[in-house]
Parts: sequence; C-alpha cells; structure tokens
Amino acid sequence: MLATFSYVDFQRQNCAVGEDVEKLKQRLSLLDYLRQQNWAVRAAGHGPEFVGLCPLHPETRPSFYVNARKNLFYCHGCGQGGDLIRFVQLSRHLSFRESLAYLEQQSAPPTDPAAILEQAATFYQQQLHCYAEALRYLEQRGLRDPALIKELRIGYAPGGSLRRHLTAQGYSCDLLQRLGLLNSQDHDAFHRRVIFPCCQGGRIVNLYGRSIAAAFAHRFLPGSRGGLYAWESVRQFPTVILVEGLFDFAVLWQMGFRHATCSLGTHLNAEQFQQLCDRPRTVYLTFDVDANGSGQKASQQLAQRLCAQGIATRRVLLPDGHDPNSFAQGGDARQFQSLLEAAQP
Ligand SMILES: [Zn+2]
Repeated sequence: MLATFSYVDFQRQNCAVGEDVEKLKQRLSLLDYLRQQNWAVRAAGHGPEFVGLCPLHPETRPSFYVNARKNLFYCHGCGQGGDLIRFVQLSRHLSFRESLAYLEQQSAPPTDPAAILEQAATFYQQQLHCYAEALRYLEQRGLRDPALIKELRIGYAPGGSLRRHLTAQGYSCDLLQRLGLLNSQDHDAFHRRVIFPCCQGGRIVNLYGRSIAAAFAHRFLPGSRGGLYAWESVRQFPTVILVEGLFDFAVLWQMGFRHATCSLGTHLNAEQFQQLCDRPRTVYLTFDVDANGSGQKASQQLAQRLCAQGIATRRVLLPDGHDPNSFAQGGDARQFQSLLEAAQP
C-alpha cells in the first residue's frame, strides 16, 4: 500500500543538499511544519507513518502519507512526494532557494533576550546534577535542600557546552555574544560557575555566575540585574530581611525566613530602593560584618535614606567576621531569630 520506493527515490534526489538544509530540517520536521499549517493527521498503523487529506490537491479520502522517521511525504492521489523543502515549493509555489529562505524564517528561534536567557538557565539547571564539584560547592555554602535548589533554579556552568547547545537550536554566536553568554572568542562566558537566574516580572533578566574556584571574580551578564531578588514573593511581608549575597539569601530561605531578599551587593540601584519604599514596612538590614567596616557603613547610609522615605529600619548585628551565610551555617533558625529581635533601629 505505501510507496516506500518513492521515499527512497526522493532521498536519492536530495542527497546533495547542503549542511544548512540538514540543520534546518533538524530544527523543523516535516510533520511539525504540516501541523503548524493545521494539517489534520492520524497515525497510519503502528509505524512512523501518518496519513491525512492531501494539502496539494482536492480529495475526500486521505491519500497523503508522511513518514516521520524519514521526514518525507508521498501522495498516492497526485503522485507528489519529497521532503519539507519540496513540500514548501509545491504548496507555496516557490523556488528551492525561496523555500529555504521561507523555512529559515519559520524555524528561526525567538531572539527575545529573556527567551534565550530562559534556555540558558534551563540548560545550566540540567548540568548541575551532572557535576559533583557543583553540588559539593552548594553543600559547602550550606545549601542542601533539593526542593529549594530547584525552586530558585540554581544551575551550573561547566564551561564549553552552552554554545553547542544554543547554536544547535539556531541561535547565532553573534547574538549570544551580544547577550554576554559567549566571550569575544566565542567561548562560553561562564566557566565553572554556580548560576542563579535573576528574574523580574516572571522573566529572566540576567544570570549571576558564582565562581566555585576562588581565583575568579563573581560576575553578571551585561545589562540590568533587575530589582531585589525574589521580590514578587517577598513584597507582601510587612517586615523584610535585606542581605547582600545570594548565598546569604538562599540559606535564610532554607531556614524558613521567606521574607528575606537580596540586593546583590551593598549598593542598591534606584529600582531596588523604590521597591523597599513601595509601602510602609520595616527593613532588617543584614549586611556583612567585614574587617574594613564597609558593609556596616553601607548599612548605615541605607538606613538613613530609607528613614527619609518613612521606612523603618533595624540593623542586624552579626558576630565579627560573619555574613548571614556563615552565621546561619554555624547556627540555627532560633539563633538567627534572636539576632533579629536584638536588632537596633
Ligand atoms: Zn496529493
């Protein structure tokens, strides 16, 4: 019944097609394209074949077959057959080149930065569980709850594999460079880094890469870092704990302090400052206690600025040399709670 010989003929006909065409066909299968065009389809038996009414000639009984494995079609009614490009040539009356250009456009991935960062974050998230060094690092920093690691979408950039992953989906190196995901030599920008996605309004606006090798500085991608971390779920609380680092924030969340947020540094940007002031609340400033006193100085200045906007503040005094992360690791929720209670205006 099925014209298997015809498929073979068409495959031979197209054996000279270039690498670009093959890549395009990998991105967009014939079956997916037909479905996008609302082709009503049903499986023709148990194999990889599908059948429906022919989109190329009028008919009342289905005689248009698609072999999903071979990515080819054949119609027993009009005798037409071939691959995706042949189908576009016939259905849209285009030349081979025009069909190729049309399909390139149809299958182009979205160039919206948030969509690409979303793909990168998902990829990094999948990598995390393949690298013991990354999980060990999280453990060292006191982050042990798998549910929280998943909720915060923490990932790992081993370096050297993001480019392959994203270019296979059709993203150009040029675009990935502009977003900062690749460096000027087209290598992955993040190498051996734990990745935290920074979100705003439910969309990823940046990625923070925490180097797990002390020799490299921690860094963001170029562009906005967004507002306060996890602000959408924190803003509802009348009291808020503000910390400077993501690991401080994550460990507090792990201990159950879900009203903690993070400014990703001691200097708040205008948006972060606005967020803290968007309604009356009390802010517990919990910056690092470092030897040069910079954390405490920043904390004092911020308290004054917030006070001028009618926001109450308390300064949480951690023991010398501690940040919330190191303190929380050595203590428990009750000890941190008593620090909050002892905080001074
Ligand atoms: Zn037909």
